[in-house]
Amino acid sequence: MKKENCIFCKIAAGEIPSCTIYEDEEVRVILDLGPASKGHALILPKEHYDDVCSLDAKLAAKMLPLAARIGEAMKKGLGCAGFNLVQNNGEAAGQTVFHFHIHIIPRYDGGPDIVSWTPGISSAEDLAETGEKIRNAM
Ligand code: 5GP
Ligand code: ZN
Repeated sequence: MKKENCIFCKIAAGEIPSCTIYEDEEVRVILDLGPASKGHALILPKEHYDDVCSLDAKLAAKMLPLAARIGEAMKKGLGCAGFNLVQNNGEAAGQTVFHFHIHIIPRYDGGPDIVSWTPGISSAEDLAETGEKIRNAM
């Protein structure tokens, strides 16, 4: 299903132009318009899913190997030294376009720290309690 007024549905369908680096019946991979680094790409399913929680499992299983293939092509073609896979779910997590997508962000030697956080501190008790809350909710 497509969602009306969803920009990524329109881009994935080819109704809005994009710099496409890969396409098949189910997905389109495009370059991000506001790249975090040179070559920053997005994998978009052609069907609409709001986020990873609603994503079709078969499609999900296809996207990780595709991300790896594109990351390898970035290393070969652009000379990046590595790449980050980033996938935001929910506004609190930084999602701004509510059509599932995976970011593939090339990382260059000596380049800026793009995907990072300051490690916190947690006691063994905190970890145990937190882990139990998540386990019990699964
Ligand atoms: P999010 O924050 O939802 O994880 O990522 C959305 C990404 O989509 C951002 O990196 C943003 O630059 C990119 N983006 C938003 N609109 C467009 C567009 O119209 N075309 C392309 N190629 N990228 C877009
Ligand atoms: Zn959509």
